[in-house]
Amino acid sequence: MPAAKKSLRTGATGLLLSAGLVLTSAPATAAPPSLADQLANKVSADGVQRHLIALQRIAETNGGNRSANTGGYDASIDYIAGKLTNAGFEVSTPTFDATKFVVESESLEVDGQPVDVRTMSFSPSTEADGVTGPLAVLPEDDTPGCGPDDFQGADYTGTVALIRRGACTFAEKQQYAADAGAIAAVVSNNEPGELSGTLGEPGAGSIPTGGVTQEDGDALTGKAGASVTFETVNHVEEFVERNLVAQTRTGRADNVVTAGAHLDSVDEGPGINDNGSGSAALLETALRMGGSPKVTNAVRFAWWGAEEQGLQGSTAYVRSLSFEQQLDIALYLNFDMVGSPNAGYFAYDGDGSDFGEPGPQGSAHIEKSFVDYFDSTGVRIEGTELSGRSDYAEFVNVGIPAGGLFTGAEGVKTEEQAREWGGEAGAAYDPCYHTACDNLANIDRQALDRNVKGIAHVTASYGESTEGVNGVPSRQQRKELRAASTRSAAPEGHSEAVR
Ligand SMILES: [Zn+2]
Repeated sequence: MPAAKKSLRTGATGLLLSAGLVLTSAPATAAPPSLADQLANKVSADGVQRHLIALQRIAETNGGNRSANTGGYDASIDYIAGKLTNAGFEVSTPTFDATKFVVESESLEVDGQPVDVRTMSFSPSTEADGVTGPLAVLPEDDTPGCGPDDFQGADYTGTVALIRRGACTFAEKQQYAADAGAIAAVVSNNEPGELSGTLGEPGAGSIPTGGVTQEDGDALTGKAGASVTFETVNHVEEFVERNLVAQTRTGRADNVVTAGAHLDSVDEGPGINDNGSGSAALLETALRMGGSPKVTNAVRFAWWGAEEQGLQGSTAYVRSLSFEQQLDIALYLNFDMVGSPNAGYFAYDGDGSDFGEPGPQGSAHIEKSFVDYFDSTGVRIEGTELSGRSDYAEFVNVGIPAGGLFTGAEGVKTEEQAREWGGEAGAAYDPCYHTACDNLANIDRQALDRNVKGIAHVTASYGESTEGVNGVPSRQQRKELRAASTRSAAPEGHSEAVR
């Protein structure tokens, strides 16, 4: 795997660096276990499971989900806030203006036969009886519907355009279709499974747009000219929602290690893997760390709202900070799905070795920290794209180094991965992703256990030092440097001397 190759190289460099460090600072007796090792030993799937049971129960008593702007979300926030307050954290619940796309009804008929359709979020509504026109099948190339040229071979006026997913956003596809005169757009999946997409934000849609499965899309491809009726009645809810932020009372407040997970579920189910797992693992890590740990850097834990509505909570939070306040954040760690029932073991591709898009400076070190920790437990980790699909997106946008863990969603496990990690090849990492069966039974306890330990270890190690990420040495390292120096003191924050 590209990630392993790359990390071997950076791993060797890291080894030399830390070997050099040890030579100048090795204590005469064995050092006590680091905070990172201690915390990784304290957390376990058992502790996380207790919080998952609480979240499941909250969903059951609140209409089956914990989605934004519901009692289930409020109760989830209150549960976590209560635990953290008791543990001595400084807890706040900053609010943000949120929106939620609500579909009241939707249907698709082709020559009178129903086809399953999912309205794309922020699609315009139709009248109750829908829009009707002949089916126009867009020819498939590498960039289907991604430019005006794609629509020049035929007359799309008054048609419902069938466009294959891929290469550009759904918003772009429906826009070019609209420009060519189509009255609606249907995007067909390019991989197995339902297609529930988003046009990104309110106002982004020009024509009613829905998604269908690859199989249905293939069947429709042979039906050009058939009469299609697409109906979607929907609206956008506006409301005020809460994030939850809890920070240790110890450690530097100008070099804060921030770790977050989204707490909201989708409307369709209780969201125990997505993202009860990340939320509960982070909570357990925070509780075992305590509100006043012996850390160099403050640790800020965050639970985000309205992630499933387009990363709204985390985005609003980052934007609410001044440039200086953003600068106080040393790095951001994200945990969105860490107990998938057919688990993969992934860390975000901070060095760009897997997907060619490195994160901000420092992100490579974060990826390596996770890879190294899992290596030490005998689990090989693969890279997963920093695609902007979860709450790290806005942190990355403003230049904050980011990383995190992920055990897989609707993606399919390969033969090689099944040999390496166990589980079922050819099946989704999480077959219950975004559905009602994402409940307590939808968790791989071993994956949860390994991940919460990884979360605890890496979060605590950055609490001790972010030297590898941003060159700010820990207090202990600075002390050793000064003691080793023949001159009085190295300048604060001067990191070259360590190397
Ligand atoms: Zn999620």
